[in-house]
Amino acid sequence: MKEVITHMPLSPRINPELGYYGIHTQAHIISNLTEKPYLLTGNELGSKKGGKIEGMEGVLDDLRRLDICVSKIWKDGDASNISFIQDLISTGVNNGLISMEMRETFLCPCGKTEFPNLPENLSGKQEKTTYEIKDGIVICKVCGGQAILQRSVSLIMKLPDEADFPFIKIYPPFAQSEIREHLNFFAGKDYILSRSSPREVAVSIGEERFWVDSDFYWIPFICHLQQEMKIKVEVLLTGHKTLKQVALSLLMAKRLGAVLPEIVIATPYININFGERPRLKTEEFLSKNGSGVTRLFLGQTLGADRKLICLQSSEAYLIARALENLPSAELERPTGEKPPLENFLHRGNSCRIRGISKKLRRRGYEQLENIERWLLWAILHSNS
Ligand SMILES: [Zn+2]
Repeated sequence: MKEVITHMPLSPRINPELGYYGIHTQAHIISNLTEKPYLLTGNELGSKKGGKIEGMEGVLDDLRRLDICVSKIWKDGDASNISFIQDLISTGVNNGLISMEMRETFLCPCGKTEFPNLPENLSGKQEKTTYEIKDGIVICKVCGGQAILQRSVSLIMKLPDEADFPFIKIYPPFAQSEIREHLNFFAGKDYILSRSSPREVAVSIGEERFWVDSDFYWIPFICHLQQEMKIKVEVLLTGHKTLKQVALSLLMAKRLGAVLPEIVIATPYININFGERPRLKTEEFLSKNGSGVTRLFLGQTLGADRKLICLQSSEAYLIARALENLPSAELERPTGEKPPLENFLHRGNSCRIRGISKKLRRRGYEQLENIERWLLWAILHSNS
């Protein structure tokens, strides 16, 4: 089975802020350090803007400009994934993995808000994405209508218990405890994967027809990669806001008999301080600074132990001066022993990159430590 570096399926964006590509840059660096290809995953189906599905083309253009080489692309809307999901459900119903049960759910007029009648969904503790509760009434944030309790036959998958969950290295520490909490919460629970109102994918079981919840198109992607494409996710990157979905993906992968990733890494939200300089979006930043400088700039987020990291755009100028002094744009692979991946993940690399940049500005490549040489190489090396 081929091992890859990937991330939780990301919704495409058109000319996003540069910070959007922090996770792709980290995947690129880890791919070079581990010598395992980077597989790009996208969540197209759920990301409708004005009724239109946004495609991945813009993201692929930006990655080409960043000289980030993608070995393969997986999208939830791929025909092979849709038929995988439909087969998974129909065979699951036959072999007992998925059951059809009468359940009470709250449903709003537009259908975006639909959730099981359980205390945890009605408590005000967690912020809900699609609805809010006012004076005991559930109001949909999308259509403004009231969600009413209804009874319907639902498709349900029982999630495995957390007790015998295999060890996965999770970085940074906050993500480790948060993912554990989510695993504990979901373990042994029912996961309702059908919806009452139209979605992009439907499945027929005997006489009954069910709409499939949009999240279910991509939550089992680890299994689809393994069972249909013989690809194992070795390192899984994720934004810090999708740790709940990571826990669900892991539990589902376990339920479906897939091999779990070795390492899960949560990446920070990136805030770029442009100071007096003009604020640049990805395309402008890239045309001004070039791909190597941009990757080094974003590489500072690797190993960050916070949910938010602030980068100074002035660093890009200093990095550019540093790269002018490198013997060639295509840097040779270091000859010293390669440090293990963990050494790059235990702490943030922003100080390390500032140090590299400083030494290079003084034409001091020879003074770089072994780990600094490897980091510089892993960021600058590109197969594309
Ligand atoms: Zn609604």
